[in-house]
Amino acid sequence: MSKNLVVAIDGPAGSGKSTTAQLVAQKLGFVYIDTGAMYRAITHLAIRNNALGNNNKIIELAANSDIELKFKNGVTNISINGEDLTDKIRTLDVNKNVSDVSKIEEVRKILVRKQREIGSKATSVVMEGRDIATVVFPNADVKIFLTATIDERAKRRAKEYAENGTEIPVTEIKNNLKIRDQIDSSRDVSPLVKAEDAIVVDTSYVTIEEQVNIILQEVKRIAENLDIDVKIK
Ligand code: C5P
Repeated sequence: MSKNLVVAIDGPAGSGKSTTAQLVAQKLGFVYIDTGAMYRAITHLAIRNNALGNNNKIIELAANSDIELKFKNGVTNISINGEDLTDKIRTLDVNKNVSDVSKIEEVRKILVRKQREIGSKATSVVMEGRDIATVVFPNADVKIFLTATIDERAKRRAKEYAENGTEIPVTEIKNNLKIRDQIDSSRDVSPLVKAEDAIVVDTSYVTIEEQVNIILQEVKRIAENLDIDVKIK
């Protein structure tokens, strides 16, 4: 492969981004990067340090965080300054506060810098988040925007929690998703919006295999145009 490809996948919470991005990366042999895990880990630190609402303190925490991401056995493992926080970033408390932490411009600058650093290494990547195609890699080779109805997204999240042993009412999840969507889409800095040149994939009524396939075909088409050889496993 003569050039590294960047595949950017954005979309709201529960749109199927993580599952889809992981499978696409696996099938292409690309590195998978979950940027939401970074915002979640900083939120966990903010909660633990009683820093919620104190933006300067949160910025300081982010600035002093040496973040390491590793995708192992289907899970994004995240460590900060050598401490493994993987089990701490998907709690309800983090869900409730992460969108407020992600609104802080300096925090975004710090994390975007890190994301660009990872994405510019000598490998092709599939990076998922909210602002990958618009801000982090505006020149990404492939830009995908995933959507799904709020009911479908809430149902999926409830199922995920149930599979991990936590029963949370769908209505509670739906409310959290609505609030996060609202904050993420209306914030001043890098709001969640579709990049003009992104391809929209509505995942409400297609299977995971189908949505993965749509993206793989798109990557293949673009790679061929660029004269890059990609192999789909
Ligand atoms: O993708 P996930 O739902 O884990 O993201 C958690 C939160 O992190 C989002 O609701 C959003 O507030 C924030 N986020 C962001 N920009 C990204 C990825 C996530 O603001 N690129």
